[in-house]
Amino acid sequence: MIRSLYPRVVLTFLVSVIGGTIIAFLVATWAFEDELNDNLQVTLDDFGQDIVRIYEAFPLQDADSFVSGMKQLNSYYLRMYNELGHLQIYGAIDGHEPLHVTNEQIKKVLDGEVVRVKTNGINPILLGLPVKTEVGTKAMFLERRSPSSTSFLRIWTYHFMIYSLVGGSLVILVSAIFVVRPIKKLTQATRRIAGGDFNVKLNIKQQGELGTLARSFEEMMHNLQQLEQMRREFVTNVSHEVQSPLTSISGYAVALKQVHLTDHERSRYLDIIIAEAARMSNMSDSLLKLSMLESQSQPLQMTTFNLDEQMRRAIIAIQPQWTARSIRFELDLESVRLVADPDLLNQVWTNIIGNSIKFSKDGGAISISIKQDSKVVIIQITDTGIGIPLEDQKRIFDRFFKADRSHSRKYEGSGLGLAIVKQIVSLHQGDLRVESEPGQGTTVIVTLPLTTPTA
Ligand code: ADP
Repeated sequence: MIRSLYPRVVLTFLVSVIGGTIIAFLVATWAFEDELNDNLQVTLDDFGQDIVRIYEAFPLQDADSFVSGMKQLNSYYLRMYNELGHLQIYGAIDGHEPLHVTNEQIKKVLDGEVVRVKTNGINPILLGLPVKTEVGTKAMFLERRSPSSTSFLRIWTYHFMIYSLVGGSLVILVSAIFVVRPIKKLTQATRRIAGGDFNVKLNIKQQGELGTLARSFEEMMHNLQQLEQMRREFVTNVSHEVQSPLTSISGYAVALKQVHLTDHERSRYLDIIIAEAARMSNMSDSLLKLSMLESQSQPLQMTTFNLDEQMRRAIIAIQPQWTARSIRFELDLESVRLVADPDLLNQVWTNIIGNSIKFSKDGGAISISIKQDSKVVIIQITDTGIGIPLEDQKRIFDRFFKADRSHSRKYEGSGLGLAIVKQIVSLHQGDLRVESEPGQGTTVIVTLPLTTPTA
């Protein structure tokens, strides 16, 4: 079994060329055989008639010498029998067996009949003609000798087949290299990618199927590269996010072991340890939620509910956070019935409003509006907080991204909240945007398709 592509391509070509040529030859021979034989028969008949006329017109000896000197005898083999069975031969047979003439055939011709013997294949005719001479009737048997134009045709065809085979093989040997080369390149590239090297240049400029395959491969390579980059960043981020609370927990735990600590200090250290542990627990919850959303392991639990009511409940649920900061809400909520997953959407509002509270100044205002048009519902949550610099606005939905690292101590958070929001909104085929002016405030705009509530 041949495994390599190159010999396979060459072999396939050779088999098709040889098979094709043989079939073509057989079909052409079969199709033209009758026509060819008819043609040959006409010339054979004509030549025979000529000889008959010569013997009729000239005395026997003159006719004999004339016929024996005829140029056409290069192509014909002529036998002449007289009534006594004597044989005269003109022309040479060139090593080929002449067709057999029976006594019965001779007798028929001597009786004045025309005999035509046909065998299979091309050029098989033996023509027997009665020739009237002054010494009585003779039986003339005429056949075409080889090489005739038919055998020439046959030789020519054989040569043509062999040359086309040799020429074609050489061409395919070279061209198969070009056919197989991109596939070899792809195989090498696959091996390098499997080994973790994504810096592979394919340089395949071909069009057609192979070109498309190469371009899809490059695209896949690019995506894999991005994925690998994301994976690395993710691992770095997770270790970083885990490392800082752990350092602080172990630091304060060591400090707790000191004997001379006041009750106040001890309780403060314990509070810090509890808060850091809670932070880690929140982060692992968020990571778990994000991974579940991304893998879509759980289908959306779609139900019909009142969005404005859900929004009010979400605000009330986090009341301790905003009352402690004297933040007030301005609500403009249209009554909207929505088909969506209520638990997931509740998470969206909690995260966005949570951010608005977190990044607002004490005593600030947060306005929330719900507007509905024919196909979508638009939810806007606006705060008058610190805002987000333009260059960070695109990245705030990335995992672990925090716009201002220097603030990260002041503003608690893992940078996963908006990544979860984005995932939930896109699972609902919605859209998520942010508009913000540093120092002025931020508006988060969620657009959700308004699927007709099932009655
Ligand atoms: P975090 O847990 O840090 O809040 P998020 O994913 O919710 O993570 O937000 C990512 C970052 O986007 C935040 O760290 C913050 O820098 C910025 N951000 C989000 N919402 C606001 C907002 N309302 N005002 C200002 N900055 C915001």
